[in-house]
Amino acid sequence: MLNWILLTIVLNIIAYLIEFILDFMQSRKLRTATIPMKLLDYIEDEEFNKMKSYSLLRLAFSRLESTYGVISEVGILLCGVLIWVRKFSVQIDLFLYETIFPGSEPPDAQDECFIIAQGVTFIFIVSLSSAVMKTPFEMYRIFVIDTGFNFGARVANYILDQLKMFFIAFVVGIPLLALILKLIMIGSPVDWVYVWLGSAALIVGLFELYPNFLAPMFNSFRGKIRNAWSINVNKVLDNAVLRKLIDQLATKVDFPAAEIVCMDGSTRSEHANAFIMGSGRNKKIVLYDNMLDLLTTEETVAVLAHEMGHYKFHHANKTMLLQIGSMGFYLFLLSQTMYSVDFYKSFGFEEFDFNDEMKPGVGLCLFSYLYQPLGNAMSVLSNVVSRSFEYTCDEFALELGYDMEPPLIQMHVNSINNLIVDKHYSRYYNSHPSLMERLEHIEEWKRRSTTHRRTSNQQKITLKEETSNDFEDESINLYLKKTFHYKTQ
Ligand SMILES: [Zn+2]
Repeated sequence: MLNWILLTIVLNIIAYLIEFILDFMQSRKLRTATIPMKLLDYIEDEEFNKMKSYSLLRLAFSRLESTYGVISEVGILLCGVLIWVRKFSVQIDLFLYETIFPGSEPPDAQDECFIIAQGVTFIFIVSLSSAVMKTPFEMYRIFVIDTGFNFGARVANYILDQLKMFFIAFVVGIPLLALILKLIMIGSPVDWVYVWLGSAALIVGLFELYPNFLAPMFNSFRGKIRNAWSINVNKVLDNAVLRKLIDQLATKVDFPAAEIVCMDGSTRSEHANAFIMGSGRNKKIVLYDNMLDLLTTEETVAVLAHEMGHYKFHHANKTMLLQIGSMGFYLFLLSQTMYSVDFYKSFGFEEFDFNDEMKPGVGLCLFSYLYQPLGNAMSVLSNVVSRSFEYTCDEFALELGYDMEPPLIQMHVNSINNLIVDKHYSRYYNSHPSLMERLEHIEEWKRRSTTHRRTSNQQKITLKEETSNDFEDESINLYLKKTFHYKTQ
């Protein structure tokens, strides 16, 4: 019999040690760092040292938090805290039942609805306790460390976001959880494929819903920059040059109209950003308002060219497929544990008898402890893919004649996590390459393209020089042909 509890504890400790070593490498790199040559004009010594102290403090604090996390997790598993929570949740359910249906017989232990209710209550208590345990750390990080260094999110928004998320978790999460528990109960180890197909449909649905329903709950999206110039009045729309350049670019890369919006990112963070969301015909390029304040017109268009690269190469759909794939991996493992009596016994749920009474809530919770470190490994894999997307899109913008260097520096120079990053640390934690990694990649691209151009000239093939404001269709077509050719190899 496989000792599941031991496997879970060992995997979690391995993940903790890996992160400990990575954090150690990162803090060593930070301590000895000086301002990179390329950024000497952008950053003062004093500011750099302040960012260094901030980053080192944040790193040390996150180590403290994860040490507390791993110790409490091992303690919870070894001391049988979950068995106690399980008994407590049954008492709560019985109490609720008696309150709602006074004088009636207590529900049958085999009753399907009662089993699902028990599962929901159990997971709700475990999640709530874990959120409460994490809150002091989160509050300290946001309101003491971040605010102390003036990098912080805004207090009122933080509390409001937490309430909104709790509301969504309550309204959407509980019925969804009940549905999942029901599926587990009617399922069997081989039925995971059906659940997978259902979840795939859900993921596709969320990709569609996110831009129009979920995202606007957290941020306001000011007007559509294209196709709506005259309706929305903001300073972006007043900028005729930017308008013209965006129009030119969108036409050249065949980007659907009316899908570029501006988001009030500054209400939460001082970090400027841009991203693409949605799928199918429902794509949107989102620009943070503070990015528009920060960048020049040309730099903004360069960022847009990068974002349109994501659209051109179907990166959103590829990301979606990756998520569906990792969901399959999760469900397969889940099916191999959830239906095994030994799995529950190993965690001390001795009274559990699979043929007599099913406990899907307990199984799901125990499995989440086991899956956590494996999930980390999966996210490292997905980082590899999304980092390669970023490099591809930087190249796409460069091929169109936009220099990505200045906007990237402007957008990231105020965060040291992008300036000084150990490369292993970056690969493990970050879905995007750091600023320095991207600058190195751009440098490499420029070197390659100069060599290529020189060779081509020798072969008497004329290549037109493009400028950032006036590029030719051929340059894009040439690039697309080259890229797709490369991709199919
Ligand atoms: Zn990108």
